[in-house]
Amino acid sequence: MHSKHCSQNFKLSSYQDLQATLAAYSRPILKTTSLLATLLTCALTWALQAQAPLTADDSQKAVADAVNPPTLVQTTKDTSLVSVLGYHEFTEDQEATEMRLPTDKFRKQMQALKDLKYTVISLEEFLAWKNGTLKLPERSVLITIDDGWKSVYTHAFPILKEFEYPFTLFLYKNYVDGGGKALSSDMIKEMMQHGASIGSHSVSHPYPSTVKKNIKLGTEAYSAFLNTEFGESKSFLEDKFDKSIETYAYPGGFHTPEMFDIAKQKGYACLFTVLPGKVSKTSENMTLPRYIILGTHDSIFENATRFPATANSTASLGAIVQSTPFPVTPTAGSTISNRMPTISVDFSSLDNIDPDSVVMRVSGFGKVPLSIQPNRKIFSWKVNRRLRKPTCDITVSWKLLDADTYEKPMRWTFIVDRNAAYIPTTAPSLPKAKTPDTEPTISSE
Ligand SMILES: [Zn+2]
Repeated sequence: MHSKHCSQNFKLSSYQDLQATLAAYSRPILKTTSLLATLLTCALTWALQAQAPLTADDSQKAVADAVNPPTLVQTTKDTSLVSVLGYHEFTEDQEATEMRLPTDKFRKQMQALKDLKYTVISLEEFLAWKNGTLKLPERSVLITIDDGWKSVYTHAFPILKEFEYPFTLFLYKNYVDGGGKALSSDMIKEMMQHGASIGSHSVSHPYPSTVKKNIKLGTEAYSAFLNTEFGESKSFLEDKFDKSIETYAYPGGFHTPEMFDIAKQKGYACLFTVLPGKVSKTSENMTLPRYIILGTHDSIFENATRFPATANSTASLGAIVQSTPFPVTPTAGSTISNRMPTISVDFSSLDNIDPDSVVMRVSGFGKVPLSIQPNRKIFSWKVNRRLRKPTCDITVSWKLLDADTYEKPMRWTFIVDRNAAYIPTTAPSLPKAKTPDTEPTISSE
C-alpha cells in the first residue's frame, strides 16, 4: 500500500518531467574514465601548513609562492559533481516494479559504482561539501533510500555493508516501527552502526492531494500542517536516534515555496526532490536533484552514472546494468570492439517456444532476418553493416506454442567501443594532451 502510495506521488509530480529529461539526454561517445581526486588530503595538508609557525624555509617558500602561487586550493571553481541515487524497496523473488528493485540488479549497480571508481560519500560528507568545509572528488555518489522498508535491512544492507558504502535512510515518522514490511528502530540503529545516516521524509508521507487540500484551508492551517510534517518528523528522529537531522526528502518530490521557509526555520540544510540531475556545489539546497532508480527503467542508473567532461577529466559513459532472462550475445552491458558482431539469443531453457514467432529488432536496422540453429532454439543475426552508434539496443519478441499473444519482450543493450576499432597508423595532431586515463598523483605524504 505504501509502495503504491509513493509510486503514485512520484508519477503525479515528476514522471513526465523525468521522461522528458531522459529523452533529452544524448549518449556521449567518450570512453569511460574516472578520477579519484586527492584534493581533500591536499586541502588538509595545505591548511595544516598554513597554521604551522613559519621557519626560514617556509618564508623562502612563501616568497616563491607569492611569485608562483599554488593553484590547487585557490582554484575558484568547485567542479565536483554528486549523483544522488534514490531507492525504495528491494526484492529477491517478486517481479520488479518502479519502486521495487531486484536485489541482484542492486548488487550489479553497486559493483558498477566500484568499477567506475566513483566515491560513495556519506550524508555528512555531502553536507560538509555543500557548506564549504570539505572538498570532494570530482565524481561522487550519494546513496539514499526512502520510506523505511524492511527489505532495506534484509536485502540491501548486506550488500551495502559488503561494499562498505555509506548510505542514507529518509524515514517518515508514521512508518518507523510500523510492523509488517516496515523497518524497526532496532534495524535502523544497527544500520546506523554500519554506515547509515538518516534524514526526514515527513510525518505522514502526504499525497500531493493532501498537501493541496491543506493549502485550500488557508495560510494558517497550511502553515500548521507543514510545521507538523517538517518539525515533528525532525524532532521524532532526533529524539529516537540521537542524531541531528538536517536533510529532508520531499515525499514524491512534491514541494511548494512555503515549504522552503518552514524548512529553513526548522534547521534543514538540504532538501531533495525526485528530478534527475547532478548536484554541484552551487545547486539550490531547497530543491536538490536526485535520480530515482526505478526497478523497471535501467536507463536511469545509466544516466545517473554518466558524468560530463570537466577541465580535469573526460566524460564518462554511464553504467548499463541489465539482466536478460535468457542467455544473449553480446551480453547486456558488455563492451565489444568488433563492429560487426553476431547477435544471438539462446532459448534452450524454454520448452514450448514457437520458433517461427521469434522477432529480433536491432537499433538502426529494425527487424532483422534470423538464422535458426538446428535445434531450433538459438536465434542469431550477424550485423551486416558496421555499427555506428556507441550503444546498440536489441529487442526480442516471441510466442509460446499454442499461445495467442506474445510474451513480454526481452530488451538489452551492449556498448560498442569505437575507439578500439579505429587505430590510426599516424597520430593526428592532437589538442594539448590531457592524459585522460591516468589519475593525478598528488602525494599526501
Ligand atoms: Zn516516499
